Amino acid sequence: MELIASFAVDHTNLHPGIYVSRRDTVGGEAVTTYDIRMTSPNQEPALAPAAIHTIEHIVATYLRNDPEWKDRIVYWGPMGCLTGNYLLVKGEYPAEEMRQLMIRSFQHVVDYEGEVPGSTSATCGNYLMHDLPMAKWEARRYVERLKTEFRSEYAKVERKIVDGGRQFFDA
Ligand SMILES: [Zn+2]
Repeated sequence: MELIASFAVDHTNLHPGIYVSRRDTVGGEAVTTYDIRMTSPNQEPALAPAAIHTIEHIVATYLRNDPEWKDRIVYWGPMGCLTGNYLLVKGEYPAEEMRQLMIRSFQHVVDYEGEVPGSTSATCGNYLMHDLPMAKWEARRYVERLKTEFRSEYAKVERKIVDGGRQFFDA
């Protein structure tokens, strides 16, 4: 099977930021998948499962209630590697617009007080696995990174080409 696009990114040289992971056309409409990368994969600790789970609940709720964006949001959810989130939206937007959206979304997590939305046994598949203080800590760090060291272009890497045209980052 072919390597899917998101696995073809060099994860040893990837920094926090907002990247375009995929562009798809669904029913004639453009859908963009953004890589909302919070940590440097394989270089610093990934998020704790409970922290990114809480971020999922708060940010998804925020985006789906935002008057400007709610009708354009297709999906928000954590990456399995726990280093960031995927955001799928209708259309494609300039990096700066996405940066501003993520700054206010994650600032909302920083400022959040009270019950995590949807964190009951009836509304969440693992309702005890939440950690609001750690979610706020991670959100605060990500907001700082978006403000001071924002990146939106995947690092260019030299790829070795071997037999059959397959590309590897090492080997
Ligand atoms: Zn949940």
